[in-house]
Amino acid sequence: MEKAKKILKDVFGYDSFRHLQQEIIQNILNKNDSLVIMPTGGGKSLCYQIPALIFDGLTIVISPLISLMRDQVEQLRQLGVNAALLNSSLSQDVYRVNYESVKTGKAKLLYLAPESLAKEEITSLLKSLRLDCITVDEAHCISEWGHDFRKDYRQLGILRKNFPSSVCIGLTATATPRVQDDVMKNLNMIQPKKFVASFNRENLFLQVLPKRDAFEQTMDFLKGHKNQSGIIYCFSRKQVDSLHEDLSYLGYSTKPYHAGLSDEERNKNQDLFIKDEVEIIIATIAFGMGINKSNVRFVIHYDLPKNIESYYQEIGRSGRDGLRADCLLLFSYADISKINYFIDQKEDELEMLSAKAHLNAMVKYAESDICRRNTLINYFGESYQIEYCGMCDNCLAEEKEMVDITIPAQKLLSTVKRTGEIFGANYIIDVLLGEESDRIFSNGHQKLPVYAIGNEYDKKQWHTFVNQFIRKEILVRELEFGSLKLTKKSYDVLLKKEKVLGFIKESKAITKKLKFSVKSGDQSYDNELFELLRKKRKEIAEENGIPPYVIFTDKTLTQMAKHYPQDDSSLLGISGVGINKLESYGNVFLSVIKRYCFQKNIQIYHPGKKTTSISRQRLKNNSDLRYTLVSESFNKGASIEELAEEYKVKLPTIISYLERYVNEGKKVRIEGLTQRISLSKEKYAKVFEAFRVEGTSMLSNIYEKFNNEVSYEDLHLLRIIYSVARDI
Ligand code: ADP
Ligand code: MG
Ligand code: ZN
Repeated sequence: MEKAKKILKDVFGYDSFRHLQQEIIQNILNKNDSLVIMPTGGGKSLCYQIPALIFDGLTIVISPLISLMRDQVEQLRQLGVNAALLNSSLSQDVYRVNYESVKTGKAKLLYLAPESLAKEEITSLLKSLRLDCITVDEAHCISEWGHDFRKDYRQLGILRKNFPSSVCIGLTATATPRVQDDVMKNLNMIQPKKFVASFNRENLFLQVLPKRDAFEQTMDFLKGHKNQSGIIYCFSRKQVDSLHEDLSYLGYSTKPYHAGLSDEERNKNQDLFIKDEVEIIIATIAFGMGINKSNVRFVIHYDLPKNIESYYQEIGRSGRDGLRADCLLLFSYADISKINYFIDQKEDELEMLSAKAHLNAMVKYAESDICRRNTLINYFGESYQIEYCGMCDNCLAEEKEMVDITIPAQKLLSTVKRTGEIFGANYIIDVLLGEESDRIFSNGHQKLPVYAIGNEYDKKQWHTFVNQFIRKEILVRELEFGSLKLTKKSYDVLLKKEKVLGFIKESKAITKKLKFSVKSGDQSYDNELFELLRKKRKEIAEENGIPPYVIFTDKTLTQMAKHYPQDDSSLLGISGVGINKLESYGNVFLSVIKRYCFQKNIQIYHPGKKTTSISRQRLKNNSDLRYTLVSESFNKGASIEELAEEYKVKLPTIISYLERYVNEGKKVRIEGLTQRISLSKEKYAKVFEAFRVEGTSMLSNIYEKFNNEVSYEDLHLLRIIYSVARDI
C-alpha cells in the first residue's frame, strides 16, 4: 500500500485517495475479484491503474468504445505510463509497435475492445504472457438488464475461466442491484467483493425550472456561463438542429450531435468539443458515453429525460474535475405525453409498464419540493439523510410563507369533479378562468357553476397550485394523458374536513433562484491567471494534438491560480501535478505564473504557508465556504441583520448558513438567536417538546401542529438552539 500511495503522488500527482479507492486497490493487490460501483467522475480508473503499475505482469482493460480507450491511453502516456491499445482502427505500423510493446512486457496496460478477444492473435498473445489483471470497464454492458447491453461483452465470461491466476475487476456507474448481480455472475467472478461508493456528487448544482419559453430560459442560463463548456440534451433530432441553428446564429459556439448525422460528422463534432474548440454540444441522449472530458461546466435538459437513470448519467458528465457544475432541467407536462407516446409503441407489455414506472419516478423528482439530492440519491437506494445540501434549487429557495389555500383547492377540485375527471390542467384552468373557447362551449362547461370562479389568480398561479396539490396527493395526474383525477384525500378537502396549506406565487421564487445559482460560482481563485493558464494549455494541446484536459484538468489550473506556485517543488504540491507532467509542462506553466505575479506584484506562495490575506477575501464570494465565514462572524458578535447586509442576502439565508454550520457539529452563539424570537417561555418549551417527539427534520409538521402560531423563522431558530443545546 505504501507503493500505491507513492504512485498516487508521483505519477498522478494526487495527495490522497478518494473514498473507497484505497480499499479497492488493496483488494485487487490481494488478487480478490472486485466489482466497483461509483458514479461517473468518481475515480474508477485509478482503482485498476495503480495495481497495474504494481503487478509484474500485464493488466488488460476491456472497454466498449474506441474513443474511450484512446482517451485513457493518451492520459496514461501523459503521465508517463506505458499503455497500449490494440484494435482494428489502428494502422498496420502502429498496431505492430503496440503489439511488440505488449509482447516484450514494456506495456503495463493493454486496452482492448471486447470483440478483439475473439481473435486468435490476441488470445495467443495473452496466453504467452503473465496476465495479472482483467479489468472490465463499463461492466454493465454485459447485463441484459442494463440500459446499454452489448452482445460482444458476452464472451468476457470465458476470459476469467481461461486465466484463473489473474484477478478480475468490473467497473460501472450503474447502480441497480439486479445489474450488479448479473455482472458478477456473467463475468464468472470468484467470491467477488462489491464496493459501492456514494452516488452523491456534491459539486453538481441541481435545478429544475418549469418550462415556459425554453429558448429564452436557455439564453438566460447561458449568459451566466460565458466561455464555458456544456451539453444541452434535447428529445429529438429536429430540436437539436433548430437549437443549434438558433444559438450559433446568436454567436454561441455550438455543434449538433445525433443519430441522423454521419459517423464522421458526429466524431468530428465530439472531437471539437473534447478539444475545447467548440463550447456547447447540443445532443440527443446518444451523446456522452465515450466522453471523459473533465471540464464540462453545465448540462441543460431542454426536455424531460425518460428516467432518473439517464438523467443522473447525463448530469454526471459535468463536473468530473470536482469543480462546481450547473445542471438545469426544464420541465413541462407536455413532455410527459411526448415520452408516453414513444413508450406506447413498445410491444412488450412488461417493458411498457416498466418504462412508465421509470418515467413516473422522473416526474416525481421534477415535482418535488424537498432537497433534490435527497430524492435523487434515495432513488438509487442510498439513505441520504442531509436535509440541506445547499447545492440545489429547493435548498436555496427562500423560506416561503405557508398560507391557507383551501379555497382555491376546493374550487379546483370541484371543477375537476364536475367535468368528469378526464381533462388536463390547462383545460381545467381555462374553465376556472372563464375562457371563451370552442372546446368549453362544445362541452357545455360554460354552464357549470364553477365556470369563471377562479379569476382572483392568474394562469401561472393556478398551475403552481396544481403542482402543489399533486405533491400533497389531493390530486393525481394520470400519466397517460395528463388528466387530473381526485383522490380519497380530495373529498376531505371538498367536505371541509381538511385545511390545505401552501404557497402563493411560487413561480416568482423559482426565477430568483436561477439568478442566484448562476452567479455564485467558485471564485476562490484568480480568474485572470486561470484564463492565461487555460490559453497556454490550449496552445500546447493543439501543438500535440491532444485534448487540453489531458495536460491538466481545470481543477489543477484553478489550484495554480489560487496558490501561485513559483518553483518545481511548490508546483508538485498542486493536486494533479505528478513527476512526469512536471517534467513535460512544469516550466511552461511556471513561467506564465511567474510573469503574472511579477506584473501584478503578487506575493509569493511558500508551501505550507498559505497566503491567508488574499484567500480570505476571496472566500467571501465562495458559496460553499461562505456559511463557515458567516457563522464565525456571528459567533464573534455580528447580528443576523448585519450579516445579511454584509453578504447581500436575505435573513433566512443567513439562518440556513447557521443551520448548516451547526449540522456539522459546531456551535453557534445562542444569545444572538434568542434575541430574535418573540415567544413565551411556555411556547419555547412546547416547541422543544415537539422536536423531541416528532424529530427536527420536518418543520412543516411542527408548523402545522402549532396552527401557524409559531413562524417558520422562529422554528428554524429554535431548531438551531435545540441542536446546540442537545450537545452540551
Ligand atoms: P470514472 O471513471 O469513475 O468516471 P475517472 O477515473 O475518469 O472517473 O476520474 C475522474 C477524475 O477524477 C479524473 O480527472 C481523475 O484524475 C480524478 N481523480 C481520481 N482519483 C483522484 C484522487 N484520489 N484525487 C484527485 N483526483 C482524482
Ligand atoms: Mg471511467
Ligand atoms: Zn438540496
